[in-house]
Amino acid sequence: MREEQGLTEDEKADGWILSCVRVAESDMSLEVEDLSQLEIPPVKTFPCRISKLDKLTPDTVAVGLRLPPGSDLNFLPGQYIEVIGPSGAQRHYSLASAGASGRPLELHIRAVPGGTLSEYWFNQARLNDLLRFRGPLGTFFLRDVAGTNLIFLATGTGIAPVKAILEGLQHISPEQGPGSVTVYWGGRVPSDLYLDVTKIPGKHRYVPVLSRAAGDWKGFRGHVQDVLLKNRPDLGAAVIYACGSIAMIRSAKKALLEAGLPSNRFFSDAFTCSAS
Ligand SMILES: Cc1cc2nc3c(=O)[nH]c(=O)nc-3n(C[C@H](O)[C@H](O)[C@H](O)COP(=O)(O)OP(=O)(O)OC[C@H]3O[C@@H](n4cnc5c(N)ncnc54)[C@H](O)[C@@H]3O)c2cc1C
Repeated sequence: MREEQGLTEDEKADGWILSCVRVAESDMSLEVEDLSQLEIPPVKTFPCRISKLDKLTPDTVAVGLRLPPGSDLNFLPGQYIEVIGPSGAQRHYSLASAGASGRPLELHIRAVPGGTLSEYWFNQARLNDLLRFRGPLGTFFLRDVAGTNLIFLATGTGIAPVKAILEGLQHISPEQGPGSVTVYWGGRVPSDLYLDVTKIPGKHRYVPVLSRAAGDWKGFRGHVQDVLLKNRPDLGAAVIYACGSIAMIRSAKKALLEAGLPSNRFFSDAFTCSAS
C-alpha cells in the first residue's frame, strides 16, 4: 500500500499521514503552514505535445512539453505536474525550468525498471505525441529567503526543480534574495550528474557528491546530507530544500534537525512512487 512505502513506523506513530492519498473520515484539526502571502497559481488540466526527447544519460531523458498558443499556465519554480499518459496512468514530474512564457515545459525523467510510464517515455514516446497534464502542484517553492544561507540537497532527477528555482532566483531583487546559495547534488557515478550546475545562471556554489565513484574522483564521496553536515554549515541562517529519493530526504531531515535546524526551515519533495 502507498502509505506503507511513504511513511516509517515512527512517523505513523507520530500521527503523520500522506495527505496526497488519504481522505478525512471525521472532523480533524490540522497543523498547516500559512502560505496566504504567496500567490499560488490555480490547478488546471492542459493539453500538450512532446517537443523534445533528449537522452541525458542511458536512463534519464529530458522531455519538452509544448502547450497550445495562449495557454494560461502559471507556476512557481519548484512545482510539479501530473502527466496523464496515453494509457491514462498518472505520474508526477517536477518542472525543470523557471517559467512557461510561451516556451515548452521541461521535465527530467529517470527510468524505473518495469515502470508503466517509464516504458512509455523510453520506448514508445514520439515527438508531437499528444498528452494531458494537471498542474501546477506542490509546495516545493521558495518562501521568504532574504539573507538566508539557501542550501539545496538533490539526488538524481531531484535536480530538476532545483534548476527551476535557481533560474527563478534571477528575478528576485538582491534585498529579497538569499545571502548565499549552495547546491549539493548526489549520484552514484559521474555520468549520473547529467547537467553542469555551474552553467545555471546565478551565484551558487556547486558541490557534486558521488556514492560509488572510481579512484580518480577528486570530489566528495558518500551522500549529500553527510557531506553537507561534514562541511559544518551555519544552521542558524540555513534554509534547506531537499529533493529526490525518500531515503536521502528522511536521512537529511533527521540529521539536520538533530544538528539544530528548526523543522520549519526544511522543505522537501520526495520522488516516491506516484502511481495512484
Ligand atoms: C512529487 C513528485 C515529483 C516527482 N518528480 C519526478 C521527476 O521530476 N523525475 C522523475 O524521474 N520522477 C519523478 N517522480 C517519480 C515519478 O512520478 C514516478 O513515480 C516514477 O517515474 C515511476 O513511474 P513509472 O510509471 O515509470 O513506474 P510505476 O509503474 O509507477 O512503478 C513501477 C514499479 O517501480 C516502483 N517505483 C515507482 N517509483 C519508484 C521510485 N521513484 N523509486 C523506486 N521504485 C519506484 C513501483 O512501486 C512499482 O513497483 C516524482 C514523484 C513525486 C511524488
